[in-house]
Amino acid sequence: MAPIRHAFARVMRSLVMKFTLLCGIILVAATAVLMGIEFQLKRADNSAAALRHAELITELFASNSSAYVRVRNDARLASVVDQFAARDDVTAVYAADVNRRVLATTGPADVAVGDRAADHLVQSALGAVDTRIETIGEIIRVAEPVFHEGRLVGAVVATVPLSAVAEPASAIMTRQFLMALGALVVFLPLVAFLIAKALAPVRSLTEAARLASSRKLDLRIDVQTGDELEVLANAFNRMFARLDASVKRVHRLAYVDMITELPNRERFRKELEQVARDAAEHNCEGALLFLDLDRFKRVNDSLGIGEGDRLLEAVGRRLREAARAWDLANGDTSAGPSMVARLGGDEFTILMPRLRDASDAARLARRVIDAVRRPFEISGHQVFLGLSVGAAVFPRDGADPETLLRHADLAMAAAKRDGGNACQFFESSMNQSAFERLVLENELREAVREDQLVVFYQPKVGMVDGALSGAEALVRWQHPTAGLLSPGAFIQAAEECGLIGEIGDWVLRRACKEAAGLMLKGHSVPVAVNVSAMQFESETFADTVLDALQESGLPPEMLELELTESTAMRDPERVIKQIEPLREMGVTFAIDDFGTGHSSLSYLTRMPFDVFKIDQTFVRDMSNDDHARVVVETILALAKSLKLKTVAEGVETAEQYAQLRGLGATLAQGYLFGRPMPMDELERFAEPESGSSVG
Ligand code: C2E
Ligand code: CA
Ligand code: CA
Repeated sequence: MAPIRHAFARVMRSLVMKFTLLCGIILVAATAVLMGIEFQLKRADNSAAALRHAELITELFASNSSAYVRVRNDARLASVVDQFAARDDVTAVYAADVNRRVLATTGPADVAVGDRAADHLVQSALGAVDTRIETIGEIIRVAEPVFHEGRLVGAVVATVPLSAVAEPASAIMTRQFLMALGALVVFLPLVAFLIAKALAPVRSLTEAARLASSRKLDLRIDVQTGDELEVLANAFNRMFARLDASVKRVHRLAYVDMITELPNRERFRKELEQVARDAAEHNCEGALLFLDLDRFKRVNDSLGIGEGDRLLEAVGRRLREAARAWDLANGDTSAGPSMVARLGGDEFTILMPRLRDASDAARLARRVIDAVRRPFEISGHQVFLGLSVGAAVFPRDGADPETLLRHADLAMAAAKRDGGNACQFFESSMNQSAFERLVLENELREAVREDQLVVFYQPKVGMVDGALSGAEALVRWQHPTAGLLSPGAFIQAAEECGLIGEIGDWVLRRACKEAAGLMLKGHSVPVAVNVSAMQFESETFADTVLDALQESGLPPEMLELELTESTAMRDPERVIKQIEPLREMGVTFAIDDFGTGHSSLSYLTRMPFDVFKIDQTFVRDMSNDDHARVVVETILALAKSLKLKTVAEGVETAEQYAQLRGLGATLAQGYLFGRPMPMDELERFAEPESGSSVG
């Protein structure tokens, strides 16, 4: 019922209805006025005709009765009166003599035969010897003097009803009303039709405005009436076009990444939410791949921002192509194609709405890793990137976008820790370790702020004389509750959260200062400081070293910097540029953990290093593993031919010491001579009478 009422109310409120009603009212009013005028005219006409008729009847009555009035023949008069009374157009008549004595009558109550008529009409007709007429409502009375042979003999009076001669007013009214009604019935629909036709453009305008308000803006109103409506429609069209363009632009800004033209984080989040919900409802699986470029930041720094953007664009293109190729060849696209998005920075995501099984995610991950590994050509340069991928499978690993993104991100971080160019699936243990890492990172920040770090020194001794000839600075963390922590417990976390730069710089300054202090006390013990990759890659690295030397007053030749093989080999050109100026000043460089990396030994030997530190695993296994012994022998032979110094690390037994001495190593470092120790202990170690001459 309600919908019908609503529709009715809408029709009643419509412009067509209003205009039609207005026309109806005008029509009715005009008809009413015309009817009134017509009615009045007709009435005037009627009464004139009636008067004329009444006069004629009275004249006829007078002439018929004049002879009998003269002689007062009552009987004959009565018959004439009766004759007239029988007529339809006469109500009453009577005749009187000159003295107004009634001679005959149809018998109205106030006049009786023999009476004197008190009728003023008769009096005035007799007095004036002329016709007298009177109209009372719907009745006309006429008094006529009667003459016989030229002599006034009396008067007659006739009463005539108006209706007898003229149509009554009510009949005219009824007819006219019916005619007007007929006109309304015929014309009103016609009027409604014409109005509806004239207002059709307004309806399209209204409809267009309604659609536009419900966000459908790519429409055009076609109105060609040549009038104001057409102008209005054209204005509407222009407005819609502009609005449509603005809305599309806003949408693009809100949901599209401007560099790669891929969906952005917001868009991806929405899509993921929808797809994950669908998958849960249909009891299906999908996957979210979290992609992070390896080495992008370094490449970006060396390329400059504009080129970096072009590189990202190229990466985005390859990812999209790889995903599309996957969809075409193997993908289950029943729930839509895979979607590649850029979250920001060098982070991308791929949404796989449906998986046939979880290994699909690993296979697509492999494809995109391979796609990104192919070199990129950016303004004439070949650029190499890597890709770490974390995968989260829904609904297993989470139902909402936030959880899924976090889990895939954790898995990606695990893949990156393992060296990149790999894919890791999320495991629930990652949550726990992520939490622990977070706690650790926060504590580590506090440690740096609160001065909880200390530097220990491990002596290096000469192979031949066993004399102290240097010390390696090794950081320790004096944890408020856990006690003294060795770097293994926190260095990796420090590297991952970026604190390693700060910690490394602090160790460097501290070691220079303490070594300079030791020198002042008469002990020249060169100090070796470990440099992490991140620290070394910083633009300001050389300046930091110079500052530390200047601040402490330590001569440059008393400082040795240890780089691991992987740091040294990552970008050889750059390494040379970084270390050359420092080497020229006298700072020496050592390759730490030599032999553990995968770079070719001969290549490494071409780098401008002064010292090889043989990794402790080879020293440890030397006595019972031929391979280890061959590696040690090769390194030592190589060093000898290049005239470089060597340090054998992790020497724990006199046997190892003897063997290494036999092979010609320069220095030894290990528990056999001393564990890492605080500076005051090292000072005692440096005293000539101390036990530095073990072996
Ligand atoms: P590394 O540079 O190879 O340092 C040598 C490690 O071997 C030290 O462990 C030392 O205590 C240990 N060591 C020495 N002699 C022996 C021995 O005879 N037997 C055995 N089993 N081990 C021995 P530590 O102090 O725990 O340091 C571990 C690693 O932490 C270092 O390895 C170095 O890579 C890193 N590290 C330490 N301090 C710093 C620092 O200030 N900056 C940076 N970037 N890394 C540091
Ligand atoms: Ca070292
Ligand atoms: Ca080492």
